[in-house]
Amino acid sequence: MSEGIAGRHCTHWIGGKPWTGAGAGPRGQIRNPATGQVTGTVDFASAAEVDEAVRAAEAAFPAWRDTSVARRASVMFAFRELVSRHAGELAALITAEHGKVASDAAGEVARGLEVVEFACGIPHLLKGAFSENVSTSVDAWSIRQPLGVVAGITPFNFPAMVPMWMFPIAIAAGNAFVLKPSEKDPSASVRLAELLAEAGLPDGVFNVVHGAKDAVDALLAHPGVRAVSFVGSTPVARYVYQAASAAGKRVQALGGAKNHMVVLPDADLDLAADAAVSAGFGSAGERCMAVSVVVAVDPVGDDLVGRIGERIADLRVGPGDDPASQMGPLVTREHRDRVASYLDAGVAEGAVLAVDGRRHPVSGGSPEGFWLGPSVLDHVRPRMSCYADEIFGPVLCVVRAASYREALEVVNSNPYGNGAAIFTNDGGAARRFTHEVEAGMVGINVPIPVPMAFYSFGGWKASLFGDTHVHGTEGVHFYTRGKAVTSRWLDPSQRGVNLGFPVNQ
Ligand code: NAD
Repeated sequence: MSEGIAGRHCTHWIGGKPWTGAGAGPRGQIRNPATGQVTGTVDFASAAEVDEAVRAAEAAFPAWRDTSVARRASVMFAFRELVSRHAGELAALITAEHGKVASDAAGEVARGLEVVEFACGIPHLLKGAFSENVSTSVDAWSIRQPLGVVAGITPFNFPAMVPMWMFPIAIAAGNAFVLKPSEKDPSASVRLAELLAEAGLPDGVFNVVHGAKDAVDALLAHPGVRAVSFVGSTPVARYVYQAASAAGKRVQALGGAKNHMVVLPDADLDLAADAAVSAGFGSAGERCMAVSVVVAVDPVGDDLVGRIGERIADLRVGPGDDPASQMGPLVTREHRDRVASYLDAGVAEGAVLAVDGRRHPVSGGSPEGFWLGPSVLDHVRPRMSCYADEIFGPVLCVVRAASYREALEVVNSNPYGNGAAIFTNDGGAARRFTHEVEAGMVGINVPIPVPMAFYSFGGWKASLFGDTHVHGTEGVHFYTRGKAVTSRWLDPSQRGVNLGFPVNQ
């Protein structure tokens, strides 16, 4: 990665250094979403370059696997210090390519760092079980060992945090890693690779290849890749899950979302409105845990929509590098236009456009930036496209429900099951919702219930393909495989042949 924001050229990171063999191969453009301007280019890896990265990882794996777990943890501790020291720089890179506001980018780095801190505890996390004397003079124990070369494929919306959900645990557990970040904002991942090298990680243990579908397909087909962690949209998650499973790899593929926030009549409506606006429009709605649907249980709908509208009127939309901005632009022009198209579609299908983000003022932004202010579509019905599709932008849909039961039915009928929240002061209702809702992450008066690093992140239904959620103990499980050992140190006093099936004595 060349220095400075302007004119950056981002290339692969293979074998502990920037790749020099890309030559005149295909490249993508990196844009600043706040200005619309091209600010850099990114190499797109060929299958041969993906092979180079996997082979560098394969070469590094045996020695890294045999490096003591204490030493592997110490590299993570050093990496933690470096990410912490360079957090501001990483956040600025994220803002420059993704567009999110500085405080949001800083929060992303901080949440990624929590997973690094969790991975620092790898000696404890890899401890197995031991049973003495399971039969006379026989002991049994279990261990977990790394898989080999594992790959991570990540989305544009968290260019630092989502990779950090994966590689710290995979590497600390003794694997070698190949990351394929989003081609829209690739620079943060290369900066993380540089910091890993500075932390003392041996060359080849962490590699980055850039590109889009071709690079992903080369990883999915590569026989050297043992496991694939994917985070992105549901159609691609489903594809990655199917292709990688068919190639015999272990896969966790996290997909899209439509996160509901149910507001019961007893809820504090000011707190609920604050939460809906924060969780609906933070990061311009480009979060997999963004609240995209508020389910207002009668009679709170009109009052709640009014309070949400009041808060939106005060939101400052502008460039992410202006500390006064609360919401930045969308990631690309095409995405902005697609998100905006749901406003007219919603109205055509019978929804009420309570707040039109196309009219929201932009403070200090270039007219060429990919702007769209916060919008609210009210009286949305489940059959409407604005409800059925993941919009992934600053559009909040409000569905009216006559009762808790009807609200739950709306949430559970949705094909996605990432996060769901309930706002209420009734502990019994909250407990019932927790029990009955079909979602992988549940918030009680918490609109974005992203689990801490020591729990695991993942949804249900079309929001996750595979069995294992990311980070936490499920992350450790995903990047290791178990071995059960039964041992007897022969006692010369117990000689004799016995052809019977071994049974405990
Ligand atoms: P995306 O699916 O377009 O891209 C994700 C990754 O897959 C990128 O690295 C991209 O280069 C690659 N890719 C894109 N199209 C591909 C194809 N046809 N074949 C193979 N690879 C392909 O997602 P995005 O737009 O970058 O990110 C937004 C999506 O990610 C949203 O749907 C969001 O909900 C989801 N997301 C989910 C989670 C979660 O934890 N469930 C977290 C963050 C984002």
